[in-house]
Amino acid sequence: MKKNYTTEAINLKNYPLNDNDSIIVMFSKNKGLIRAIAKGAKRPKSKLGARIQMFIANKLMLFEGKNLDTIQEAQSLNTFSKIRNDLDKLSYSMYIAELINNFCSNHYSQDENNEEIYNLIFNTYNKISNASTKEEVLLSVLKFQIKLMDTLGWGIDFKMCSVCQKEIETNALFSFSLGSFVCFKCAKGDLSCIKIHDKIREFMQTLLISDFNLQTKYDKLANIMVLEKCFNFMKKYIDNISHKKTKIFEVLDCVSQ
Ligand SMILES: [Zn+2]
Repeated sequence: MKKNYTTEAINLKNYPLNDNDSIIVMFSKNKGLIRAIAKGAKRPKSKLGARIQMFIANKLMLFEGKNLDTIQEAQSLNTFSKIRNDLDKLSYSMYIAELINNFCSNHYSQDENNEEIYNLIFNTYNKISNASTKEEVLLSVLKFQIKLMDTLGWGIDFKMCSVCQKEIETNALFSFSLGSFVCFKCAKGDLSCIKIHDKIREFMQTLLISDFNLQTKYDKLANIMVLEKCFNFMKKYIDNISHKKTKIFEVLDCVSQ
């Protein structure tokens, strides 16, 4: 039996279905990734039109369909409006939308993590929108990367060597072929290894275990160079285990050349 349902959801992608209607891909609190038709959203006076923009969080009533649901009502909860007037904020937010699309494409799975992931996206967009520096933007995205992977079961153990199972005191390396940290001894011969400074490892471990909105003692210390390094490290790790690579930064590189 088809039925109506309500949920909160964040818009991650939209594209035209025909002259009047759009299809919206959203991450919802109750059902994870959903795709729905926004009828008449492309008409100039449509109320729905404003609600289906990228990154907006809505409270929705939907009618369940076979492949696509239909939006009956939408009420915006947060528009994260300051994301849209800053290229950095916009591109990192698009990166997040792309990541969620790549990893959570399990349509209609009754995943117990949906609410956790929804809250993580909501908190991250909220922080990015309100950020006053690029450091703040990067820190939020880094937290997102670390916490999302952990929630999805791909979390990184920043403390243990995955080969000898001993705690790594110092000189840790990250093996991209294993997708995990290894100690100096166990790294021998593994050409995919890169050195990760102890302080950086400690920093990322702290982000993993601290509440998203909590400020850690490292937050103020991490400068743009450190944050970009950590972001790129996580991006490479995620791209390696994902079946799809995120493309947003390649696209931006082409545009700026
Ligand atoms: Zn080891």
